[in-house]
Amino acid sequence: MNGKELEKELLWEAPHIAKEAPAEREAAAEFCEGYKAFLDAGKTERECVKTAVEMLEAAGYREFAPNTAYKAGDKIYWNNRKKAIVAATVGTAALTEGIRMNGAHIDSPRLDLKPNPLFEKQDIAYLKPHYYGGIRKYQWAAIPLSMHGVVGTKDGKMIEINIGEKEGDPRFCITDLLPHLAAEQNQRKLAEGIKGEELNIIVGSIPFYEEDGEAIKTPVKLMAMKLFNEMYGITEKDFTRAEIEVVPAYNAVDIGLDRSLVGAYGQDDRVCAYTALKAEIETAAPTHTTLTILADKEEIGSVGTTGLNSDFVLHVVEDLCQSADADLKTVLRSSLCLSSDVNAAYDPTFSFAFEEHNSSHINKGCVLTKYTGARGKSGSSDASAETMTKVIKIMDENGVHWQTGELGAVDVGGGGTIAQFVARMDVDVVDLGVPILSMHAPFELASKLDIYNTYKAFKAFYK
Ligand code: MN
Ligand code: MN
Repeated sequence: MNGKELEKELLWEAPHIAKEAPAEREAAAEFCEGYKAFLDAGKTERECVKTAVEMLEAAGYREFAPNTAYKAGDKIYWNNRKKAIVAATVGTAALTEGIRMNGAHIDSPRLDLKPNPLFEKQDIAYLKPHYYGGIRKYQWAAIPLSMHGVVGTKDGKMIEINIGEKEGDPRFCITDLLPHLAAEQNQRKLAEGIKGEELNIIVGSIPFYEEDGEAIKTPVKLMAMKLFNEMYGITEKDFTRAEIEVVPAYNAVDIGLDRSLVGAYGQDDRVCAYTALKAEIETAAPTHTTLTILADKEEIGSVGTTGLNSDFVLHVVEDLCQSADADLKTVLRSSLCLSSDVNAAYDPTFSFAFEEHNSSHINKGCVLTKYTGARGKSGSSDASAETMTKVIKIMDENGVHWQTGELGAVDVGGGGTIAQFVARMDVDVVDLGVPILSMHAPFELASKLDIYNTYKAFKAFYK
């Protein structure tokens, strides 16, 4: 063998998909039209669950009913408090042969309104948020924002709020200082460019006024509340019963002259949620029962009843075991799970944060992340060689373009996913997802070829 042949035989590097499989560009572009529509329809976990239920019901899924004997091909789902959802297709093999689980998350970093958010200062009415998840606060000023969520009333009704997405809707905004007056602010550290209590969201500037009326203490705030009341029938006290999320008010778009990338808010991790959901729905008669989990609260550590650090998925598996009269422990021990989440794509502009041989790169396919964590893999569920072997075999046998990735260079930072909580259930798990540029920014980028290959990976995993 000469050197060139030896190189081909012995060395390995994930290729650029557009060189290796140029025909996939068209399929990927088409697939991403549906993806962009999914992103536009679901800017919060509640909206994603609503969209998922519509997609699942249309595909013949029905809500799980206890004491039902399900047969191969049956499609069911569990709606967890309207903020997380699990869908399953019953396999031909016995449940004790193991479940093919796939968990993505549908919450994204954002600004949540505080329980007492409305105030006025110098004739401007504002809403006060408390940020949710890891954001770089300075990125959230001077961009158009929208408001999504629910408000509970004193009669126990839940009113849905959505302002700033529809054509002609007003938007909201956080201000930043002009450069001319920013000399002092420029001396701050970047992380404090905009501080937490400076994220004040403008909602109005016109005071309530009546001729010969008595003086009102906060007329601009009153005017804003009057407008909220006219739209939704709510009063200020109702904000204490609300969950309102403020997010970027723009839709998903193509990026680049070649339209190779999708630019949008919330791709972490709705990119895995959409690809997983599509694969789940299109799986007709799998060998192993599938379980597609769209979880909430990942961005704040998966805590709470709708996050993976609760027993809600365990309870779903218990439901399945009960219907199939199967032993829970045997089912868990023989199951395999993809913790489907994004990873940081190598960014040439900020190369200092990455180790190029072990970072994921855009356009090289879905990224298999053996471990996450920080420092010496602290907080990581490090997938075993056996688990890696199983998952890589599935992808190689089905023509999936994949690569490996680490979250940045050693000791630069770190992070975690839901993998650790799946592992705690005694289920083997590894992270797999899409490389993202500008992750956690109000506008994130992902490659269409990578998105398409993540979908292909999930299809192969469920087959
Ligand atoms: Mn994520
Ligand atoms: Mn994240």
